[in-house]
Amino acid sequence: MKIYLIIVGLVLLNSCGGIKKNTISKDAKLAQIETKAVVYNFDSEALIRNIKTLSNDSFTGRRTGTNGAKKSKNFIIDAFTKQEVLPVFESFEQPFSFFTRGKSYKAVNVIGFIKGTAKSNKCIVISAHYDHEGVKSGEIYNGADDNASGTSALIAFAEYFKANPPKNNVILAAFDGEELGLQGAKYFVNNLTIPKQNIIINLNMDMISRSDSNELFAVGTRYNQEFKTIVKNHTQVGQVKLIRAHEGLDSGDNWTYSSDHAEFFKAKIPFIYFGVADHEDYHKPTDDFDKIDQLFFKNAVQTVFNIFKDIDNL
Ligand SMILES: [Zn+2]
Repeated sequence: MKIYLIIVGLVLLNSCGGIKKNTISKDAKLAQIETKAVVYNFDSEALIRNIKTLSNDSFTGRRTGTNGAKKSKNFIIDAFTKQEVLPVFESFEQPFSFFTRGKSYKAVNVIGFIKGTAKSNKCIVISAHYDHEGVKSGEIYNGADDNASGTSALIAFAEYFKANPPKNNVILAAFDGEELGLQGAKYFVNNLTIPKQNIIINLNMDMISRSDSNELFAVGTRYNQEFKTIVKNHTQVGQVKLIRAHEGLDSGDNWTYSSDHAEFFKAKIPFIYFGVADHEDYHKPTDDFDKIDQLFFKNAVQTVFNIFKDIDNL
């Protein structure tokens, strides 16, 4: 690493060549080094393109049952198909309906499958909800961080598995109806087609693309020593500090029930939830693409990839 930093330093020095005055700030230099130092297991530009697309106004905030949700669902299915992900059911779609807050909804989970090389019956479920708040009082809630970020990360996993099949089977789950009470995850867990004991863990991503303090939280390892050790011993990716917290052991909010992983927890399936702290644009129409921190996002996704690989290799 030291040698690498020196080389990067020399390149920076050379490119200035004493002709142009170096106006790059110290922070920007650090950021450059961090960018160069991280090797991604996925196409990091595609990750950014996908979060930008899913949080575009034309997706109208991805509210369950709307055309925007349908458009998002089709976008994810197209991506899965392109990456040769297999459907778990007859198609990638797992339709369901529910009634909440005086209204009935028709919703669709998108569920993909990747066969593991170890030929075991064990499975890791990687999940992210793709629905968001839709349009309220004429304002579009684009939900770039919540949760176009996790959904784009899910697509990055699909891309990775095409060239690097996992050891264990993997289910990629893009859940619908999260914002209306974790409905998609609830339906999925209550209608499993495999014994729940065969699910090694649920890795759930919900809001992973920005943090002023560069903190990504990992919630849920207090219940499992092996997973706790993996998170504890992970190598930091760029500026992303992965912190075990928010699981009822500290004074901070307990996030055990804050997103889809709660349904796995209730079914006694281990989980790790990855997410950032609420920010000023949380559940506001200003949760837009231009607010995300692209470098943090890429490095957060790589962090989740590394944790996945460690668990898959157990
Ligand atoms: Zn969310």
